[in-house]
Amino acid sequence: MTNLRAQTMTRPTNPLASREPEDWRLDAKCRDWDHELQGDPWHPDSDLPGAYDDARKICAGCPVLAACLRAAVDAESSSYGALRFGMYGGTTPAERSAALRKEQRERAARRAAA
Ligand code: SF4
Repeated sequence: MTNLRAQTMTRPTNPLASREPEDWRLDAKCRDWDHELQGDPWHPDSDLPGAYDDARKICAGCPVLAACLRAAVDAESSSYGALRFGMYGGTTPAERSAALRKEQRERAARRAAA
């Protein structure tokens, strides 16, 4: 899966960064997060309730939340059985799985109705 957060670490002064088609990453709220000092709330050690609370709060105020979520869902659904890790676009892996299944059900229902 595409490591969105690693890509968001691209410095804006990097000349390649401005040529990237997905410039939304430059506005990511997690972009300048110091993982060494502050840990990684997007990849908690457990899936227990509340484990993603800190990351969810940060994502909630992110101006590129929708683009991040779309990129994660696209990356994860591009290969069958892809593993999902971490919070992207304010969603946990389980939430993205549920959203993908819902999308697939709705698509199938539309095909059946056509
Ligand atoms: S929505 Fe969250 S994970 Fe995605 S770019 Fe924004 S802060 Fe980072």
